[in-house]
Formats: sequence, structure tokens, C-alpha cells
Amino acid sequence: MGSTTALPHVSTEAWTAFRLRIKGQVVLPGDPDYETAREAKNTIYDRKPAVIVRAEDAADVSRSITFARRFGLPLTVKGGGHSIGGHSVNNGGLVIDMRRMNNIRVDAENRTAWAQSGAVAREFLAAVEPYGFAVPFGDAGSVGLGGITLGGGIGYLVRKHGLTIDNLLGIEMVTADGQIVQATETENPDLFWALRGGGGNFGVVTGFQYKLVELPQIYGGALVLPATKDVISAYAKLSLEAPEELTSISMVVKTPPMPFVPEEKVGELSLTIFVAYSGDIQDGPEAVAPLRALAEPIADTLGPMPLSGLYAFMEPAEQAARLRVRSGFYAKLNDEIVESALAFVQDGPVSVNFLQIRPIGNGAMNRVSPEATAFSHRDARFLLAIIDHWEDTEEDGANEAWVDAFWQSIAGYRHGVYSNFLQDEGEARVREAYATATFERLAKLKLRYDPTNVFSGNENIPPKPLSAVA
Ligand SMILES: Cc1cc2nc3c(=O)[nH]c(=O)nc-3n(C[C@H](O)[C@H](O)[C@H](O)COP(=O)(O)OP(=O)(O)OC[C@H]3O[C@@H](n4cnc5c(N)ncnc54)[C@H](O)[C@@H]3O)c2cc1C
Repeated sequence: MGSTTALPHVSTEAWTAFRLRIKGQVVLPGDPDYETAREAKNTIYDRKPAVIVRAEDAADVSRSITFARRFGLPLTVKGGGHSIGGHSVNNGGLVIDMRRMNNIRVDAENRTAWAQSGAVAREFLAAVEPYGFAVPFGDAGSVGLGGITLGGGIGYLVRKHGLTIDNLLGIEMVTADGQIVQATETENPDLFWALRGGGGNFGVVTGFQYKLVELPQIYGGALVLPATKDVISAYAKLSLEAPEELTSISMVVKTPPMPFVPEEKVGELSLTIFVAYSGDIQDGPEAVAPLRALAEPIADTLGPMPLSGLYAFMEPAEQAARLRVRSGFYAKLNDEIVESALAFVQDGPVSVNFLQIRPIGNGAMNRVSPEATAFSHRDARFLLAIIDHWEDTEEDGANEAWVDAFWQSIAGYRHGVYSNFLQDEGEARVREAYATATFERLAKLKLRYDPTNVFSGNENIPPKPLSAVA
């Protein structure tokens, strides 16, 4: 048992009772696991919680919420730890770490799966791929189901199968007052609406039920092309004209060393495209032919593979590092954006930095009504993100200045932002993630489910008096 010194205002009796009732692990400052347990992947946020509870079940989650509230401790929830704004870890409070709650149950006959929210995308695909199924998550295997699903979830199947939330059937959640509730289209439908895009504002989700899509394999991999204005512009146009089975995520980047890139090309500017064609494998070559024809490829690994095979490309970007991201939804990739990307990436600091381009338009996510879920920007055609990773605190200034100057050059063309790509950029930016009516409905529901803003360690929707949002 650890000492109570981290929580001087908690009586020994209360502390002992809490610890005895938690089935999972309680990690305190000084414990051997503490440094690992408090890590946020974005190392800009170096926070030191007083208590970390590695929850074992919903009852642990409920007790932790009640304890934190009783003693006025800041409370945050950690899944994969990838919050760009470092929201999953706090200073001096209690962190509920969900990672031990990562069971996944597949019902192959009914094409559904239940997953505990502490599972990460790689674990989920490992459980469903043997049955020939998938769920649309993102591009990185270590991102937590909790974070990605509650924000919306934009990945390699978005044009064919929509957002992660478009494949969500139900949720189990622990509320601010410690109750375990379910939410589906018919049970607590308002809550189910809010949780599909409203982030971690309403409670701690313990489980998700997803509908599975049939996807034994994709035709995909990496296609590395020389980055010129013509190639990037044509890629953007082709991506929206392509059959919706074809989704790609690309970056304008100084080509990093990858096993399939010729050594002499490393460091040269490229458009590196990660491709997923989710139709019939035999049709894959024809579907990607227009991309291949854009220029003489520097590298081309496209072929049949499991969807999870794409996670390998993102592994370097998933490591803990200092990270700055600025992003938005766009209607088109105009010449100014393309020229800016080429110039800024060419002159970028010595770090891993790039413009990520996600063509997401003309597909399934756009067909869902913007009122149907709390995710508002259903008409978006591109998601663009300036992403910069570096190691050394002494390089903070140069990297932040580079991201901000690049962002200034393209920010004006945006139409909203994706809440999961926000980096603690202030209330106005959170509002930008939602249509006004959606934000007001979310604020009302926040008032109902979390009136004192217990769940504020997130891209926060503040509870407002009903009169202010009626
Ligand atoms: C390398 C990288 C790649 C990414 N790729 C994609 C992508 O392709 N598509 C995409 O849509 N997004 C992507 N993202 C963004 C990602 O979806 C968000 O950062 C997400 O919040 C991370 O979730 P997490 O569980 O890993 O993070 P955490 O830091 O553990 O959690 C983030 C926040 O989510 C909330 N949360 C997490 N779990 C729960 C829970 N069980 N109950 C209630 N609230 C919870 C909390 O508010 C928490 O602060 C990426 C991020 C990174 C860093």
C-alpha cells in the first residue's frame, strides 16, 4: 500500500476504504510504474497526477469518479494516451486508466462486436480480422477506442463505410454521479447522439458495441510520388472522383527513411500516399491505376494486405514525442494551400513534420445528416493537418513557430475543425468543431449529465444554464 502523502486532505480511513475496494491497480508517485503510467504520448504535457487507477471494471470506474468528486480532485480518463492536447493526464488529480479494460467479444453471426473502451485499434482489428471483418478506425494501431470513437473517427474506410460512429450500435458509460448507463438509438437516445462526436464530456465510457463490416483484405500500401504542385493537385481531384472504396491518407513530407524507399530519395520532398481500396481485391489495380499514373513512383508497395497492415506505416508517428498539430476541414485543396505546403515543408525545421492530407469527401460520411450525430462537419471534403514531432525542448520555439506560420498561411480557407485533432486551442476552436445548434444541444446535455463539469479534461463543452442555450 502506498502512503497518503499525495493526498493530504484525504483521511486515512477514506483512503484505505477506497484502495480496498478498487479491484485494479492504484499507482502513486514513487511507485515503480508511476512514470510509465503518467505518460502522455505528447510529451509537451508533463503532468503529475496524485493517483492513477488502472481500472478493472465499471465498478472501479464508478468508485474512482465518486472518490475524485468527494475530495475535489481533477479527474481525467486515459485510453491510448494519444490526446493531442495531452488531456488524459492531469496535475495533482486522479487519472482513470482504461487500458486494462480491453476485452473484445466478437459475434460473427450477427456481425457485431463488443469492445471495452480501453482496447486500442490494433487489438480490435486483431480480434475481428480472423473472421474477415473490420470497423473503420484511424491510421494508427495504438490509438484508443475511447478517444477515437467519441470524437467521430476518420480513417481508411471513411469514404465507403463512414466514420467510426456511423458503425456504432451502443455504449455503456459511467456518469458523473457514478451510475452505469447504456445508450443506443432507443435507450437514452440523446446521450447516444451526444457521445457520437461530443468527446469525453459526458462520462467515462466502459464499452462500445460496433457493427462489423466485411473486409477480408484490402488492396493497399504505400505509394510514394515526387511532390510537385501538379501531382498534389491532381491527387486531390482524383481522390474525390475515385470509387468510394478508395480512401487514402497522404503527406507532403521530406521522405523519411522507410525500408521500401531508395536511399538516395530519403529527405527529398514527396507526396507519400497510404492507400486502402476496400472493394473486390481483383479490382484494386484498376482503382489505383490513376494514382500510379500521376508520376513515376519513387516507391510502390501496393498489393493485397490486411487493413491492419497499414498500421506499420504510422508506427514512427505514434511514439512519445513533442507534438504540435494545427488542422481544419476544407472544401478543396486550392493552389495557395499546395504552394504553401511545398514551401513550408521544404524549409521546415529538423524534425518529423508534414502536411497530412485526408480526402474524405464524396462518400459515406457525407450522406449522414449533420443533425443525426454530434459530429457536425458532414460536408467536409478534405481534412488537413500540419503535424510536427520533435524530441528536444530546446527546439520547441523553432517548431512551434514553423507550425504557426504554416497554419497562418492556410487557416483562412478552412470550414471547421475535427475535435479529435484539436490541441487545447481554446473555446472558440472547440465551438468550431460543431454547428451552432449542435453545440447548444451538447451544452444542454452536458448540463443534464455533468452539471459541475467533472469531465473537463477534454476539448470541453461547458455546461450552460438552459436559458443561455434555449
Ligand atoms: C499518431 C496519431 C494518429 C491519429 N490518427 C487518427 C485517425 O486516423 N483518425 C482519427 O479520427 N483520429 C486520429 N487521431 C486522433 C485521436 O483519435 C485522438 O487523439 C484520440 O482522442 C486519442 O484517443 P486515445 O484514447 O488514444 O487518447 P487518450 O489521450 O487516452 O484520450 C483522449 C481523450 O479521449 C477521451 N476518452 C478516452 N477514453 C475515454 C473513455 N473511455 N471514456 C470517456 N472519454 C474517453 C478523454 O477526454 C481523453 O482525454 C490520431 C492521433 C495520433 C496522436
